[in-house]
Amino acid sequence: MKRIVVPAKEARRVRVRSGQRFSIITPEGCQCVDFWAIRADDLTEWASAEFTRVELMRLFPRVGDAIFTNRRREILLFEEDNSPGIHDMLVCACDPVRYERLGAKGWHPSCQENFFAVASELGWFYPFLPQSISWFTNIPIAADHSIGWARSPARPGDSVGLRALMDCDIIVCSCAQDFTEINCLNPTPLWVELFEEDAETTPAHAGRRDQGAR
Ligand SMILES: [Zn+2]
Repeated sequence: MKRIVVPAKEARRVRVRSGQRFSIITPEGCQCVDFWAIRADDLTEWASAEFTRVELMRLFPRVGDAIFTNRRREILLFEEDNSPGIHDMLVCACDPVRYERLGAKGWHPSCQENFFAVASELGWFYPFLPQSISWFTNIPIAADHSIGWARSPARPGDSVGLRALMDCDIIVCSCAQDFTEINCLNPTPLWVELFEEDAETTPAHAGRRDQGAR
């Protein structure tokens, strides 16, 4: 098992192979994870929050669900959830304008800039930021369909376990938000743990696909 430490308010890219398992852990708890997965041999295909919502006919992922790409293919399987099970697929990543409006004085790190920094190091160019899948992120929906920013309920040491169903690059970002309460006003590091022994195995998965037109 290999552990990659993602410092607070930063992002790291990790290559995972089809069949390989990995965990994302919040060692200190109350930390939102902005997460992307991009196909290794085709950078125009990525884990898509909107396609996943449609394929699952659910707003948020739960254990047993696949995560789908923008071409409706399964890229990841959500295998384990050692957290209260609150994750988000609705809100965009934080960006410089967001912090400016929140009153930040000068530059403030953001998940958008962290994504583009990692992407540009690799020579990737994205004209836009794919929506993140946000582990441990608590976006409550009220009866009138308004949404809110609530504290992440993740406890110290909580984790999610995923399995790659395609060779892909994952980008794991410790959300830098310290104006709203989602990270308990104190962003902290994340760990990514890669399980090497699974790399060559064939994934046995059954992504949940509800019936119905889409
Ligand atoms: Zn963020």
